[in-house]
Amino acid sequence: MNVHVQDCPVAADVAPKPVRRESGQREVFCGLTGIVWLHRKIQDAFFLVVGSRTCAHLIQSAAGVMIFAEPRFATAIMEEKDLAGLTDANDELDRIVAQLIARRPDIRLLFLVGSCPSEVIKLDLSRAALRLSQKFSPAVRILNYSGSGIETTFTQGEDACLASLVPAAPPTRTSEDQLLIVGSLADVVEDQFIRLFDALGIGRVQFLPPRKASALPAIGPNTRFLLAQPFLADTARALEDRGAVRLAAPFPLGVEGTTAWLRAAADASGVAPALFEAVTQPHRVRAERALLRYRDHLGGRRIFLFPDSQLEIPLARFLSRELSMQLVEVGTPYLHREHLAEELRLLPDDVVLSEGQDVDLQLDRCRMARPDLVVCGLGLANPLEAEGMTTKWSIELVFTPIQGYEQAADLAELFARPLVRRAKLVA
Ligand code: SF4
Repeated sequence: MNVHVQDCPVAADVAPKPVRRESGQREVFCGLTGIVWLHRKIQDAFFLVVGSRTCAHLIQSAAGVMIFAEPRFATAIMEEKDLAGLTDANDELDRIVAQLIARRPDIRLLFLVGSCPSEVIKLDLSRAALRLSQKFSPAVRILNYSGSGIETTFTQGEDACLASLVPAAPPTRTSEDQLLIVGSLADVVEDQFIRLFDALGIGRVQFLPPRKASALPAIGPNTRFLLAQPFLADTARALEDRGAVRLAAPFPLGVEGTTAWLRAAADASGVAPALFEAVTQPHRVRAERALLRYRDHLGGRRIFLFPDSQLEIPLARFLSRELSMQLVEVGTPYLHREHLAEELRLLPDDVVLSEGQDVDLQLDRCRMARPDLVVCGLGLANPLEAEGMTTKWSIELVFTPIQGYEQAADLAELFARPLVRRAKLVA
């Protein structure tokens, strides 16, 4: 699969850091994978992939044991006769959706998720979503987005999903400023942030995605939004199209990132600096103390990050500034310079950044550098381990709660664990 990397906007006030741009063979998931965490977040939504057996296998292997627990996702498998145009795929889809809704009356929001096969045969899922919405609303709202490997990599599936929710959100009813946190966070992390916002006196905070489809946040020109994830380019654009304004901030990883992220919200809401200090200080002190012992382990170690989730740059900033790790190369599948401007500013001046991927060239660079730790996908991890390198599976960073003060040490531990394991094996 070939990747095409587009130019992205450059924030004027950021000293440009050189970025190696590559295209070629890639080792990444497609956007369907996002369903694995999104279906747990939006508790009354169902994700129906319109795809092939390959897509069904991908979801099943990514979701692991969850497939046995009456999940809220499935694949409508396109058979050869669908692909050959011998049946009307729309009739088939209508039949499957009707069956599904009859069997699962708890579903309030149904996503029709496009895949490579549905795109290749040009099945118009947006029209299908409109048609089916007319039939099943108001009980069930039906939306669509694409998670195909042609259009999306890994976390971009979440971006596509959230962007599809934005037009369905109601307009704001008051002129009072509202804060919207955008990006899927584990419930435990979301609850911690709600408590912090409450303590700061920021009352009107909403989340996208919401936990319930019926609680879609209101959006309008008085919405100030703060991205909780770095991979939400289309969602941010959709929000801006509705007049919402993005608050620039680093991402809430580590103590520094979390503090700066909260401060952006506090400043926009007019929170007094003294109150901000009083509320955040105990959390900062506790988290910094918890990080100390990981700095002993990780400080000075050399780390190489392969592109995977777009979390790489905020992670690299955390690893270099809070754990004193040395960055050998920081790869990202896509670099949104405007959304990442605050992060880029915090990276060391001599950092080596790469965008996109030509996996063989990148592997050569990695082998040459012999880093202490390599962050990469499952496909590369075992072969690199066999070559004597220590690896960390990047997918865990997406499935584990890592944002906020309470999780800073857990995040550090994810990187320390493989090194500790290797040391025990060698001993
Ligand atoms: S959407 Fe495309 S890349 Fe993803 S599993 Fe299906 S066929 Fe493969």
